[in-house]
Amino acid sequence: MLNLILFGPPGSGKGTQSIKIAECFNLAHISTGDILRSEIKNQTPLGLKVKAVIEKGELVSDNLLMELLENAIEKEKSKNGFIFDGFPRTNFQAMGLDTMLEKRNTSISLVISLEVDRDEVVKRLLSRAKLEGRVDDTEEVISNRLQVYHNQTAPLIDFYKKQKKFVEVKGIGSTEVIFDSIKEIVSALI
Ligand code: AMP
Repeated sequence: MLNLILFGPPGSGKGTQSIKIAECFNLAHISTGDILRSEIKNQTPLGLKVKAVIEKGELVSDNLLMELLENAIEKEKSKNGFIFDGFPRTNFQAMGLDTMLEKRNTSISLVISLEVDRDEVVKRLLSRAKLEGRVDDTEEVISNRLQVYHNQTAPLIDFYKKQKKFVEVKGIGSTEVIFDSIKEIVSALI
């Protein structure tokens, strides 16, 4: 199986690139942000529980995320593997993901990190706010999400570097050029 993590701060283009990679390599795209937003939209008990947390730009609890992920993985069995987008975001989640994959006799193949500087991600998120109207794309919440990324998610870089599973890709430029560099890296794994 080919199991990838697309890594990077909010606004680095993980969503856009994950969709393209999933299609190209026949992977199941698992975006925890999309799953949570759909729960909120459908006003499910889970959606109601996480709404306020997401609106503040904080992280949803690890236990809830692990449960959500287990369900998402179970649903997708016919693909060549997974591309995780926006997950894991904490050490607990990264270790939980390893265990979950081990149980299925597989593991993370590679973590691909989209490198985009802070000014650029803020610019992108503010323009996305206008286009998509995401409630967590206001200036104040963006700043909190970047802080949360820095404190809780960026430490995972070392976790995956130690396993020699971490590569960086320049995340600025046209979508196609960025995709080509990712495609080259992923193709070398197969
Ligand atoms: P995203 O679309 O990936 O930026 O996610 C939007 C929001 O959903 C985040 O700011 C968090 O509040 C929540 N979220 C998504 N994925 C996770 C995760 N792996 N752990 C905790 N919270 C998450």
